[in-house]
Amino acid sequence: MKKYQYGYLLCSLLFSLCILAIIQNAEPSDETAAVCPNGKYVALTFDDGPRADTTIPLLDGLRQRGARVTFFVLGSLAEWNEDILLRMAEDGHQIGQHTYSHVALENQRDWMLRQELTRTEQILQRVLGEGDYWLRPPYGLISERQYALCETPLITWSVDPEDWKSRDCEKIKKAVLTSVQSGDVILMHDIYESSVEAALEIVDALQRQGYNFVTVRELMELYGVTPAAGELYRSPLKPGRGY
Ligand SMILES: [Zn+2]
Repeated sequence: MKKYQYGYLLCSLLFSLCILAIIQNAEPSDETAAVCPNGKYVALTFDDGPRADTTIPLLDGLRQRGARVTFFVLGSLAEWNEDILLRMAEDGHQIGQHTYSHVALENQRDWMLRQELTRTEQILQRVLGEGDYWLRPPYGLISERQYALCETPLITWSVDPEDWKSRDCEKIKKAVLTSVQSGDVILMHDIYESSVEAALEIVDALQRQGYNFVTVRELMELYGVTPAAGELYRSPLKPGRGY
């Protein structure tokens, strides 16, 4: 073998080793080492429903657009809207819970917190079957001590357009579109017409920019994050007790 052939072989070997090292480094080692996936992904989330006259038009619009989202439902409304829960599941959306009666959990005694969560989980399991129904605490309020009482991951948000406050489609849209980045979890409420209208226009605008709408569970997976029970996450890029 000629001298330059040895050189070529050596270069190829070094190049392969470099590629191997890059691939290994790209593997997320823990939940704080999120890596950016190829492409842009965002999770729209909706609290406080379901409510037939607003949630169903939202589901119709999402289906037309091929967008998956996450609903954090109230047990007190879910038990009267089983058909809507089934439709959400059929359309590939993630369903989580938002307590039974929309209480600020940080003010509750432990038994009361457990009751709020268990009662809602039982409704979801009866309608949808066994599952891992993640929790969004109402108002994002829950004490760190109480995290451990929850048997699922806790999800808050990283973008809040305060749709419940303004009830103004244009303001809601602007608040989201001027701040959103790939990996964000957007908080909205599917019980207001203005929010539904804004959400569908946000989907249209962001899809034109190349964003994909995925569930919170999918967003976490895409960023290499495996949410743990009893831990709170604002988004895959903001894990931990930061809210
Ligand atoms: Zn709420």
